Amino acid sequence: MILSIVMARVHKLAILALVLAITSTSAMPESEAKSSAWSRARKPAKGSAESIGGYSAGCLRGAVAMPAQGPGFQTMRPSRKRVFGHPVLIEYLQRVANKINASHLGPLLIGDLGQPMGGPAPSGHSSHQSGLDVDVWLWHPAVAEKRRLRPKERESLQAKKVVDAKKKQVSAFWSDDIGELLRLAASEPEVSRIFVNPLIKQRLCQATDTDRDYLRKLRPWYGHDDHMHIRLSCPAESEECVNQDELPEGDGCSELDWWFDDEAQAARKLGKAKYQERVGALPTLPDSCNEMAAVVAK
Ligand SMILES: [Zn+2]
Repeated sequence: MILSIVMARVHKLAILALVLAITSTSAMPESEAKSSAWSRARKPAKGSAESIGGYSAGCLRGAVAMPAQGPGFQTMRPSRKRVFGHPVLIEYLQRVANKINASHLGPLLIGDLGQPMGGPAPSGHSSHQSGLDVDVWLWHPAVAEKRRLRPKERESLQAKKVVDAKKKQVSAFWSDDIGELLRLAASEPEVSRIFVNPLIKQRLCQATDTDRDYLRKLRPWYGHDDHMHIRLSCPAESEECVNQDELPEGDGCSELDWWFDDEAQAARKLGKAKYQERVGALPTLPDSCNEMAAVVAK
């Protein structure tokens, strides 16, 4: 009797030890230090601009900050300070903003770019690490066409969902101007792809008669119902930069059914859970990134 109680205790301790072992390997002090080095960095790493590694396991040298405002654009949630990117991303955004401005589609309301040295962020995204990703609002308040948004508004305004998931169609906040914004954004040569909600892609597949080429770059993905996630290809002089796989051939319009298929819902939910698991998880970074983090971690 006593022996069995003792044995049960030993068993419990063994389980506890195992749990502790698993917990401590998944949060190794060294990698923890590196992770916070990325979020602690206040300044870009010095040197010529270079995107290193992949979108979800990389970092950035020689980052440039997106200005808070300029012709046709404003940054949103400036207190998050995720305003850094490779210079090609900053130039791209300013060029698109100018076109938006000229076409009176604006303004471009810009969400997160990346941290000063890129790298994994403590919250919000698993990508945006190599200075080539940016979130841009789809909807904007009418007042933003008449005057600049005030600092308070830029912090507190909520983006509106331009699709209605229940009705499986675009919402009242959709407009054809948003479609035109997506076409302009995707048509620039640096763009690798733009992630949008599948209902947005479906809408544009149905509405676009001519010039369907840009549709190929619009990739359906979970969420992305109030913003588009623009991803640029690796810049020419970034030798350690890792591109995503080539886009499949064609405009992808006939492959959207999977997203709306009820039988695929279970798989869809599983995929979403897996995606969210990755957010905040620590990726294996290239050596060049670890060296960069080590300087800040000191
Ligand atoms: Zn994003």
